[in-house]
Amino acid sequence: MHEMAMAQGVMEIVEDYAHRSNAKKVCTISLLIGEMAGVVFESLEFCFSALAKGTIAEDAEIKLKKVPLVGHCNNCGWQGHIENYNFFCPECGSAKVDIISGRELRVEYLEVD
Ligand SMILES: [Zn+2]
Repeated sequence: MHEMAMAQGVMEIVEDYAHRSNAKKVCTISLLIGEMAGVVFESLEFCFSALAKGTIAEDAEIKLKKVPLVGHCNNCGWQGHIENYNFFCPECGSAKVDIISGRELRVEYLEVD
């Protein structure tokens, strides 16, 4: 399951960080999730709380922030939100559109005690 693998990845980062900073507990975990990462938020939260049971992150609050899918056209310079996963430039129709954000899944910050 996609979300379970992601939750495991996040858990590893959290435990590593908590260990290095001698934390007694993890209070907040803030995650940035790209629109295109294909994550179901509820599912990720569910997987994470299952994994976090009995760990340093058991009572952590999870904040999920959605990062919009933004593209940049190399042909005309258009930059903006990509609607409906249409990767052609809405201005000039070019297919030379790069994804600038919206694919990431990363830990934005952690708060520990
Ligand atoms: Zn264009």
